[in-house]
Amino acid sequence: MKIKACGVKEKGARPEPFYYEKEVGRNDALVKITHCSIARGDIQFMNDDWGDTNFPVVTGHEIVGVVEEIGANVTDLQVGDRVGIGYQQEACFECEFCRAGNEQFCPHQKVIAVNCYGGLAEHIITDNRFVFKLPANLDSAKATPLMSSGLTVYTAITKANLKHNAMVGVLGVGGLGLLAIQFLKKMGHTVSAFSHSPGKKEMIEQAGATYVDSSNEHDVSQLHKQFDFILSTLNVGFNIDTYLKLLKPQGKLGLVASPLQKQSISIGLLYDYAQRTIYGNYVGSRKDMMDMLAFSAKHNVECLVEIMPFADMDKAIEILKSQNVPARLILENPL
Ligand SMILES: [Zn+2]
Repeated sequence: MKIKACGVKEKGARPEPFYYEKEVGRNDALVKITHCSIARGDIQFMNDDWGDTNFPVVTGHEIVGVVEEIGANVTDLQVGDRVGIGYQQEACFECEFCRAGNEQFCPHQKVIAVNCYGGLAEHIITDNRFVFKLPANLDSAKATPLMSSGLTVYTAITKANLKHNAMVGVLGVGGLGLLAIQFLKKMGHTVSAFSHSPGKKEMIEQAGATYVDSSNEHDVSQLHKQFDFILSTLNVGFNIDTYLKLLKPQGKLGLVASPLQKQSISIGLLYDYAQRTIYGNYVGSRKDMMDMLAFSAKHNVECLVEIMPFADMDKAIEILKSQNVPARLILENPL
């Protein structure tokens, strides 16, 4: 079938109507897209900032829609189901990572913008094993960012194996940071949020976390060896040593975003009477996705969103280029 999308033909070009052919395979689901987020990462794909964009590109990797057709082998989905789709579209299901339930590390995986077309479109055809039913009480627009940002943050937190009521720090309070605070609070942890924006203090406190002014070195250093886990959502450079010192022995620093420039650390802070760990995380497995959606439905985890019609995509791109918007922009297709 012919799928109508919004594509970018070459590096730095503007998105324009783009059609591609794809058929519904035996394992696939055809989804009519109702919502897709657009974020700075989409612009970076359009500009080929990471060097792996495959042009022409259709970006958009946080997708919500309704199943319109299923392939012959599909038993877990039905036409009419409301579903969410994230960054990963396929895996081999045979390699050591797939067999261990870590499909996100599959060397044969297909992901949006690198290997296949994404959600800035009217439809998408995806392997049904990467099409996830949305719990009924999740709002379509507010749940859209869960499909990538939510999965990334939730998986990073669960991989820390925190004990009950752990002390946790969150660095950066944008979309990822706010989601992290919600997940951590609802898991029963005590959360401090580090931000250099005093304007975010009220929002942080409303979310149930303690505000720490990260520009005040004295306040930050007072928290020496206080934390079991610190999650950084910062995409700008920061002093990693400062935050390693805030971790207890055996504490963990999780990174879910990275600055473009290299970062230095004092390696001794990892082992001197400490055994501290640093790890990164991006997206998660199919099981992580299902767990995250169930947790979000049970605890009413919602993202801060601003909804715009799909037709206003150019306007959304201008907003992303010129402003630092705290809410995730969600493009909505009329059903
Ligand atoms: Zn595999």
